[in-house]
Formats: sequence, structure tokens, C-alpha cells
Amino acid sequence: MSSQKILLDALLDEVAARPGAIVVFDLDDTLFSTGDRHLRILAEFAAVIETSDARSAGILRGIAREKLRYSIADTAKDHGLEEKLAKDLRDFWFARFFKNPYLLEDSIIPGGPEYASEVLVRGGRSFYMTGRDEGMREGTEASLLRHGFPEPDGKGATLVLKPRFDTPDFAFKNEALRAVGEMGTVAGSFENEPAHVNLFVERFPKGRHFLLETKHSGRPIAPHPSVHRIKDFRR
Ligand SMILES: [Mg+2]
Repeated sequence: MSSQKILLDALLDEVAARPGAIVVFDLDDTLFSTGDRHLRILAEFAAVIETSDARSAGILRGIAREKLRYSIADTAKDHGLEEKLAKDLRDFWFARFFKNPYLLEDSIIPGGPEYASEVLVRGGRSFYMTGRDEGMREGTEASLLRHGFPEPDGKGATLVLKPRFDTPDFAFKNEALRAVGEMGTVAGSFENEPAHVNLFVERFPKGRHFLLETKHSGRPIAPHPSVHRIKDFRR
């Protein structure tokens, strides 16, 4: 049996032992992979510059999914895009990446929908807590439903979004965790940002906390030694 399965099963057993226990899931690069969202924006930008700069358009179209970096600026730099164009790309990306229609482009981290559903089957609650803001609620709900995640109806599953776009994610999660902690026992959490998973460890030291080894912002922060590392949610 893989250690990933053992760890993921152990959290479900914990949930079953504590009716109503909460498991918190981050969304971007935890339940969802944002790669296809990046690729769509790159393709759209390539189409815009095609007539003026066919060579750069070709480079952009040729970027492979696995070569995408966390930030579009790093992706551009890795592929030798000249500075002015990289800046235009960054602005183009920023105007789209956080918009509802683009959220539907995301694919899932394997096993996520089944795992979030299993939390409910075992008598627990799944909380989606994300740095996405309220303006992204519509696309986020649609994306969750189309991929078979439990519907965030405020009963079995709840979607917690940032009230304001410009609040830093860390400050928002720090505050939101206080409220979630008052709603029940937090049995565990899933995150791709080491700084965020450490926040969960600090706030809920008895919980089981997981770091998804997908990609993150690159801040040089080591996850707490108690944090479990997994690739995805397959058991
Ligand atoms: Mg994330």
C-alpha cells in the first residue's frame, strides 16, 4: 500500500470518528491545476501579437504545460521573451486569470473530487478555502460542480472566498481560520503553499495537514516537519 494512501485514509478515519469534522481544501494548485488556464491565456495573447511578432507568438504557443512556472513572468523569462513583451503578457494575463470564464478552463488534481466527496460520506464537512475573491464565486461554483466536487451548499460543503480581491491570501486565511475553528473540529487540511500549511499546523496542531507537491509561489519557507507531502489525492 502506498504511503499516500495510508496518510489519506488515516484522515478519513479521523473524520469518521468525529461527526461533523471539517477538512479544509485550498483550490488553486491543490484541488485544481491552473495549467490549462495559463495555456489558454498564452494562446490568446499569441493570437493578439501574431501579425506584429509572429516569432514570439510561435514561442508562446509552443510552451508545454509542464514548462509553466507559478508566475507568468517566470514562464516568459524561461522562454526568452523580451522584456517589453513579457510585461504586456503579464498585464494581459492579470486581466484574465482571475475572471470567471477562465476558471472553467482548470483541470483537477487527480482523486480530488472523490476525496472531498468521501469526507461527506464519512460524516464530515469539506470546506473550500481559497485566495479567490467573491467576484470569482460564480466561476468557482461552476467549476466545482462540473468536476463532481460536493456542491458548496453550506451544509456538507462550504466555499470560503476572500471578501476583497486585494487582501493578501495569507492575511485572509489567517483570519478565516479563526472563524472556521469556531464552526467545528478541523481534522485536516490540504494546501500547496508551505506558508499556508504552516498556518494550519499552528492553528490546529492536532489535525493532519498535507502539502500538495504541485507548484507554489516560491517563497523560501519550509513546511513544518509534521506536514505530510502528497502528489495528488489518489488512494
Ligand atoms: Mg493554492
